[in-house]
Amino acid sequence: MAKLLMGKEVSARIKNELREETEKLKARGINPGLAVIIVGEDPASQVYVRNKERACEECGIYSEKYALPEETTQEELLRLIDELNHKECISGILVQLPVPKHIDEKTVIEAIDPKKDVDAFHPVNVGKIMVGNYDFVPCTPAGVMELIKESGVDVSGKECVVVGRSNIVGKPQAMLLLHQNGTVTICHSRTKDLAEKTKRADILVAAVGIPNFIKGDMIKEGAVVIDVGINRMPDKKLCGDVEFETAEKVAGAITPVPGGVGPMTVAMLMKNTVRAAMVNKSR
Ligand code: NDP
Repeated sequence: MAKLLMGKEVSARIKNELREETEKLKARGINPGLAVIIVGEDPASQVYVRNKERACEECGIYSEKYALPEETTQEELLRLIDELNHKECISGILVQLPVPKHIDEKTVIEAIDPKKDVDAFHPVNVGKIMVGNYDFVPCTPAGVMELIKESGVDVSGKECVVVGRSNIVGKPQAMLLLHQNGTVTICHSRTKDLAEKTKRADILVAAVGIPNFIKGDMIKEGAVVIDVGINRMPDKKLCGDVEFETAEKVAGAITPVPGGVGPMTVAMLMKNTVRAAMVNKSR
């Protein structure tokens, strides 16, 4: 039976540690603060934003929420970001993605001060991650690294396979594994003979967005399997990218969905916000 990597429990532990850290920082006059901007009514985004607000409370982090109507113009959004870039009590800014179609995501991301970019999506922060000298790590890949640590498996020298090459998960995930001396393969929709690649993995990260895509027979015996996928099924239940029932019989350790990577992403956002407060204080 595979060890279950319970993101819910690990994230609770991290948030407790962060709460202690924020208390100490506040005593030194450093007050972490997060501004979350949401444009429109996307139901999944509403849930994510609520979770982030709740996590701020749990960690003793000040937060401001800006819920803007769907018809908000790009100029209005950019003006708000500029205001928050200069606002003393705000150390981190997050624009919940996706934004409505009439707003250019890239322009929005690039408008955020890199020192307040707690999602680490700004090209400056992406470049810093590549170089290996960074303040912020994108939240989901950072959460995945914590869960791999929880498995007790040392990444160094291991075959690591990441399925998915998005800018927010796959690519930064591969870099983080590389920084920890993994031998990394990135797979995507054009990869030939995917199962042959995934079966080589000591550490397999699935970030594809297709329910139950990775089956047990694509996994090496004893591998650490991290399922980033969050897919909403017709019956409203959440389902990962890994077929849990067949995978858990083969894997050495595996994350559940929900309760695996999801809560870790939020905990890592809190970590980045606390870090941002320190970075901004020292400029
Ligand atoms: P994207 O849609 O941006 O990327 C999906 C990737 O999967 C692409 O690189 C694509 O390849 C690859 N892919 C698609 N089909 C195949 C295939 N048949 N074989 C191999 N690779 C394939 O998704 P994201 O990275 O944003 O998200 C992935 C999943 O993770 C989603 O379910 C999302 O909801 C979830 N997610 C969860 C988070 C969390 O907090 N737990 C946070 C962010 C995302 P190509 O590039 O060639 O098109």
